[in-house]
Amino acid sequence: MIDLEGRLRQRRLDRLYRSRPVLDGPQAAEIVVDGQRCVAFCSNDYLGLANHPAVVAALARGAERYGAGSGASHLICGHSRAHHELEERLAAFTGRPRALLFSTGYMANLGALGALAQRGDRVYADRLSHASLLDAARLAGARLHRYPHNDAAQLHSRLRDGDADGQRFIVTDGVFSMDGDLAPLDRLVALAREQRAWLMVDDAHGLGVIGPGGTGTLGHYGLGVDDVPILVGTLGKAFGGAGAFVAGSEALIETLIQFARPYIYTTALPPAVACAVSAALELARTEGWRREKLAALVERFQRGARQLGLAVPAPETAPAVPIVPLIVGGSDAALAAADALRKRGILIGAIRPPTVPPGSARLRITFSAGHTEEQVDRLLEALAEILC
Ligand SMILES: *Cc1c(COP(=O)(O)O)cnc(C)c1O
Repeated sequence: MIDLEGRLRQRRLDRLYRSRPVLDGPQAAEIVVDGQRCVAFCSNDYLGLANHPAVVAALARGAERYGAGSGASHLICGHSRAHHELEERLAAFTGRPRALLFSTGYMANLGALGALAQRGDRVYADRLSHASLLDAARLAGARLHRYPHNDAAQLHSRLRDGDADGQRFIVTDGVFSMDGDLAPLDRLVALAREQRAWLMVDDAHGLGVIGPGGTGTLGHYGLGVDDVPILVGTLGKAFGGAGAFVAGSEALIETLIQFARPYIYTTALPPAVACAVSAALELARTEGWRREKLAALVERFQRGARQLGLAVPAPETAPAVPIVPLIVGGSDAALAAADALRKRGILIGAIRPPTVPPGSARLRITFSAGHTEEQVDRLLEALAEILC
């Protein structure tokens, strides 16, 4: 039997122990965490929609109309009009024939790869892809090959020289969750075509945030369903709610409805959540000022950080991605920096292995359209005190 206490002790010694700050009140730029008022630079509520009055009102109206829970899986009797309409809106938003709701992004990735990949198929995943993509490949029984981060040339030679039996999948984040950089989708699309491989992009951090009208990394590169047949998006980040979706062709979505086990064997999201996300999607689509404000805040931070000599990566896109990693190296150093910030009323997570590769523990700094310039300046001052 596994020695639980010993394992936990080791985790502490390795400085990898995780604990959960407790929030009182909604997600916002300023939150109350473990009783302390803090400015938070660590949520994924990029557009400031998680507590938007129109989104909260849509949730409340949805609850009055549909009640609290969906009561069943989508295939039995849990698929409400609210879910159905949200799927239609997501299809229109992504410019794809169909979209299918999942309860979480983790499940969307498990479901999509699980329904398509057969035992022995090959999945080529960017080394820094989200854990759910890697787990999806493993659960599908596929052979998982992790290629060096954003290295299309390496991927090309591995595809070219590898065994071409069975299906091959290239899977990647659109915007990388812990690094804020973009996958070279233009090159991956060409590679997938040449090598007759599926291309699956998880754009959890791009949709709503970058690209024309918030159409994400695919919008940024101008790619459609013929270029990237499988697109995964999440609804708990820029869209401020919960859940996720896969968007693609009619045949893809019907296949997932028939075969994706994390779709079939789970209770549908509460319909009220679908109502809230529909409202948030509309705001994300129409209120371009949120993306502009967010970009201005990120650029202000980037300028200030470079002036301080902090090693932040140069932005790759205009507008810039609201995820800025400040890599400090060891887990100890990352924890110390996060603690020092917390003492100054700023909450930022210390992201450590195995979430990121060993030796690259970091402060993952994220921004929201709900932040003010003063809050960004306060962050810069605090970083100057503790890191410079
Ligand atoms: C957050 C995230 C997920 C998981 O989505 P949830 O809805 O939170 O389960 C999947 N992929 C990426 C890239 C993510 O950042």
